[in-house]
Amino acid sequence: MNAEEFRARLVLELRGEGIYDDRLLEAIERVPRDMFVPRPFQHQAWDNVALPIDCGQTISQPAVVARMTQALELDERMKVLEIGTGSGYQTSILSYLCRRVYTIERHRELLQQAESRLEALRRRNVTARLGDGSKGWPEQAPFERILVTAAAIDIPPRLSAQLSVGGVMVVPIGDDPENQRIVRVRRQEDGLDIDDLGPVKFVPLVSDRAAEPLSG
Ligand code: SAH
Repeated sequence: MNAEEFRARLVLELRGEGIYDDRLLEAIERVPRDMFVPRPFQHQAWDNVALPIDCGQTISQPAVVARMTQALELDERMKVLEIGTGSGYQTSILSYLCRRVYTIERHRELLQQAESRLEALRRRNVTARLGDGSKGWPEQAPFERILVTAAAIDIPPRLSAQLSVGGVMVVPIGDDPENQRIVRVRRQEDGLDIDDLGPVKFVPLVSDRAAEPLSG
């Protein structure tokens, strides 16, 4: 199989799994996942599997990237916050589907690698920074969409507070890796609407809550 055939096979597989958003499928076909996958796993770069990256983290399975991105209901005018840059793969997909992406990663090494890939791909509408994403990015809030790509124990209150009214956050919830759910949170005038979008498996969202209380 050549590169185009690998890409086409992945898109076909995602369609079969219920991904119908054509802009999203185009972005998946366009973003070279092989650039985000470490050398020893190159032969699996276009397989529908999660793979290890540095710092004990993972690049998510394309089916999970697709499900979560589709659930965000993006349009090209939106400002999006992403927590957990990781390899930068999901960031890159988002950058094709909205106006601007703000992304936060807690591992410096991953952030630097992701930034140089995004630069090489000329993703000019991405701003990345190092830090604890569970605190969000207050200087840039509110966001119309928030995507969390690490599992939180509960809906992170500072993130839902940084959603605009009508805004949507997609976040994996659950402390037991065998029992996590993708949750979609929609902010209303008077509270949050919550949908369960099914099971998933993510590395944990690591936050330094103990060091900085919510009220601080
Ligand atoms: N979306 C990524 C997958 C990331 S794996 C990709 O496409 O490659 C989850 C990432 O979240 C890891 O890189 C991890 O370091 C990061 N992470 C975990 N807790 C975090 C936090 N509190 N703030 C920012 N990043 C966090």
